[in-house]
Amino acid sequence: MMRAPVAKIIPFSNVDGPGNRTSVFFQGCTFNCLFCHNPETIHLCKSCGICVEKCPAGALSFDASGTVVWNSTACVGCDSCIHVCPHDSSPRVRWLTVEDLMKEIRRSAPYIDGITTSGGECTLQNEFLIELFTEVRKLGKTCLIDSNGSFDFEADPRILTVSEGVMLDVKAADGAWSNILISHTQELVLKNLDYLLSVNKLHEVRTVIFPGRDTENAEAVRTVAGHIGSACPYKIIRYRPFGVRERYQKLLGEFETETEYAERFARLARECGAAKAFVV
Ligand code: SF4
Ligand code: SF4
Repeated sequence: MMRAPVAKIIPFSNVDGPGNRTSVFFQGCTFNCLFCHNPETIHLCKSCGICVEKCPAGALSFDASGTVVWNSTACVGCDSCIHVCPHDSSPRVRWLTVEDLMKEIRRSAPYIDGITTSGGECTLQNEFLIELFTEVRKLGKTCLIDSNGSFDFEADPRILTVSEGVMLDVKAADGAWSNILISHTQELVLKNLDYLLSVNKLHEVRTVIFPGRDTENAEAVRTVAGHIGSACPYKIIRYRPFGVRERYQKLLGEFETETEYAERFARLARECGAAKAFVV
């Protein structure tokens, strides 16, 4: 039976798409963004054991095969394990089946409009998501995909047939800054942007605005605006250092982006055609 690594489930969220939604965060990512707010979701646990002795509640141990296991009942949620992990991982991951997840979603179902899958990068679990979304839609609920754009939706569009669309991060224009910021080019991300637009499955686009990075911010915003026009909302997101790894805060900024500064780029986006650009 297919299982996927689930880092966290938020039964009710009003910031992960329209209405009230259950958000499911999967473990593992294809990028390593310097400004990641949840760096403990980037890699799967290697069972190195460093966090086991640091757990004040005795909630971590090794099983007979040497795998680190988490006792959720004993856990007090202190986060010591993720703070000491040198591998951008967490021991608090559950390998769930679609039915395991559906049990939790059914409990929230009377109160939600749908679900949003995120991460990490949820499209790493493409086959699992197709099965999950198929079941969720039987409840009459909507399904949205929060993605960094590293999955080639045109090459395998099956997931789009069972979802309302994609909330796509475009973190930079292609070029040197993209390679520094996310350790990746933007080629596939921008191809996805155009493809999702063409099949009417682009729910929204998001770009983070960094303090003092006039050139890089403007290049990213112009790139997105030139593609999307007024086809979908464009969220201009203020960089916030909360949760960002300390070594990268030195490069990106130890303070959040001022609203007024971000508004400059929302105006630029609108001038370049993205009529639905706004700051969050
Ligand atoms: S959050 Fe991590 S370190 Fe803290 S009690 Fe839970 S398992 Fe242990
Ligand atoms: S969560 Fe990190 S520190 Fe803990 S066992 Fe896994 S890889 Fe090691």
